[in-house]
Amino acid sequence: MGRIQSIQSFSTFDGPGSRCVVFLQGCPMGCIFCHNPESWDFNSGEELDAQTLLRRLGRFRPFLSNPGLTVSGGEPLAQPQFTLELIGRAKTQGWHVAVDTSGWGPLEPFREITQAADLVIFSIKHPLTPMRLAPGSNLQNTLTNWRTLATLKIPVWLRYVLIPGWSDEPESLQTLGVIANELPNLERLEVLPFNNLAKDKWLKMGKESPIFNGAQRKVTEEQILRAEQLTAWRRPNYSSE
Ligand code: SF4
Repeated sequence: MGRIQSIQSFSTFDGPGSRCVVFLQGCPMGCIFCHNPESWDFNSGEELDAQTLLRRLGRFRPFLSNPGLTVSGGEPLAQPQFTLELIGRAKTQGWHVAVDTSGWGPLEPFREITQAADLVIFSIKHPLTPMRLAPGSNLQNTLTNWRTLATLKIPVWLRYVLIPGWSDEPESLQTLGVIANELPNLERLEVLPFNNLAKDKWLKMGKESPIFNGAQRKVTEEQILRAEQLTAWRRPNYSSE
């Protein structure tokens, strides 16, 4: 059984083509810029078995051009057995399956789950001092898991949220680029602009975050472009498309 926070029936952001997204319940990272803090609590959500969940997702399948499923969270690696079973069953039914992870968790389940998927979307919170942004993170663990992805025969997308004053230091972006350049199968490096759309959610939940409480400037396209340039990521000669 797995704990499910919510299902999104249609997305074009969470992997190639159009797809459903399953947000699993429970995340130990505690990111202070999280847009989904209601997914943190491990005891909340709806309990479902993988077969029932896939039956539910089947209703949306006719609306997807090339049926894709992204297993997100929360942190999918925090429910390793369920995530593995869901990926295996979904692939048998012809879904293209992506797993969207912060890279949290022990190496072996991480390796097993990512090997089972068709695409890994990996969100690094900060390449030097992640605990400032994600108190539940462990940089060594993140990097160990990241490096194991180099052995996979599937594409990886790396995502990084640019937060002015928190994750936009030149040395951080340069280090992010060094990390990105380690993977021969890295298909995309996406620097995403922070936005404070989740501010009201945090307030309603009675949570405090210096990022949402502070006066955050809007991230401009120029800042994103500059950040991408600072990474100096060299796109490998790799494409799954
Ligand atoms: S890893 Fe994702 S879901 Fe978990 S706290 Fe961070 S942003 Fe939120």
